[in-house]
Amino acid sequence: GEKPGSGAEDSIQVVARFRPLNDSEVRTGSRFIVSFPTSKGQEDQLVCIQGKTFQFDHILKPNISQESVYNKAAKNIVKDVLNGYNGTIFAYGQTSSGKTHTMEGVISDGQQQGIMPRIINDIFQHIYSMEENLEFHIKVSYFEIYMDKIRDLLDVSKVNLAVHEDKNRVTYVKGATERFVSSPEEVFEVIELGKSNRHIAVTNMNEHSSRSHSVFLIQVKQENMETQKKLLGKLYMVDLAGSEKVSKTGAEGTVLDEAKNINKSLSALGNVISALADGNKSHIPYRDSKLTRILQESLGGNARTTIVICCSPASYNESETRSTLDFGKRAK
Ligand code: ADP
Ligand code: MG
Repeated sequence: GEKPGSGAEDSIQVVARFRPLNDSEVRTGSRFIVSFPTSKGQEDQLVCIQGKTFQFDHILKPNISQESVYNKAAKNIVKDVLNGYNGTIFAYGQTSSGKTHTMEGVISDGQQQGIMPRIINDIFQHIYSMEENLEFHIKVSYFEIYMDKIRDLLDVSKVNLAVHEDKNRVTYVKGATERFVSSPEEVFEVIELGKSNRHIAVTNMNEHSSRSHSVFLIQVKQENMETQKKLLGKLYMVDLAGSEKVSKTGAEGTVLDEAKNINKSLSALGNVISALADGNKSHIPYRDSKLTRILQESLGGNARTTIVICCSPASYNESETRSTLDFGKRAK
C-alpha cells in the first residue's frame, strides 16, 4: 500500500525526549548521565548512556521548546490525517518522565502547549485555509483504560465499554461518547471536561494517571462537494501508564494488580510495534490487550505511528531509562 506523508520515512517514527534533572533528583545528588554525541548526518539522532549508544529519528534534548518538539515529532501527522490516513501518537516512559508534559503540556498557554493542543490547532488552521469546496465533520472521544476496563471520560456512567468490530472488521470502542466540534476552543473544553471527570473518581490523580492509559481520539471526515469524494482520517493520542517496574516499590494488593495489568498491556503494545517494525505481516498480536485492539487500525499498515519515549537523565533512574530506550529500539 501507499505510505502516508512523503513516503521517504518509515511508518513508525521514534523520538526520544529527555527532560531536565528535576528538583528531587538534584537534591538527592543524582548525576546527569546521558550525552548527545553528534556525527555527520546524525546531528540529533544519538544518545549515549553509560557507554551504550542508541539511535532514533530524533533526540529531543532537555532544553528543547514545546514548539520544536511538536515540529519534530508530530507536525507531519496533521497532513496525513487530513489526507484520510489514520495515525497514533503515544508517549511511553516511567512516571515523571514527561509524558503528560509532552502530550498535553499547559493547554491554555501558547508556549507551553504540548503535542495534542498543537495538533488540534493545526488541523483547524488547515481546514480554515482550504480553498476547495470541502465540508468537514470533526468528532472527538476521550476515554481511559484502567485495569483493562475502558471508562468514558466524557460520560462517567460508562465505566466498562467494549471493543467491537464493524462490518469492515475495523475495531472501535462501542458506545464511547462522540462530540462534534467546530473549533480548537471547543476541543479544549471537551479535554477539560474529560480531565475533570477523571479527577472525580479518584483520590490521588497523579497516582491514578500513572496507572491508566488515557486515549484521545479525533476523527476528521471530509466531503468534497463537487466530486463527492469522501475521506476519513483518525488520530489517536495516547498518554500511557507509567512503565516503571513495580519491584522498586515492593507493591502488593491493588497496586500489584495494577502493575501486572500495566505490564501486560505495555508488553502487548511493545510486541505489536516490534512485529510491525520487523515487517511481520502474517501475525501481529493485536488481540493481546484492549489497548492494541483499539489501536489496531491506526498502528501499522497505512497508518503513521509516532512513539515519543520520555526519559529522565538522572543516575537514580538509569535502569528505567535504559529499559525505556530498549522499548523505543524495538520499534526500529
Ligand atoms: P509523566 O506524565 O510522565 O508522569 P509529567 O509530564 O507529569 O510526567 O512530568 C513530571 C513533572 O516534570 C511535571 O511537573 C512536568 O511539568 C515536569 N516536566 C516534564 N518534562 C519536562 C521538560 N521537558 N521540561 C521541563 N519540565 C518538565
Ligand atoms: Mg502523566
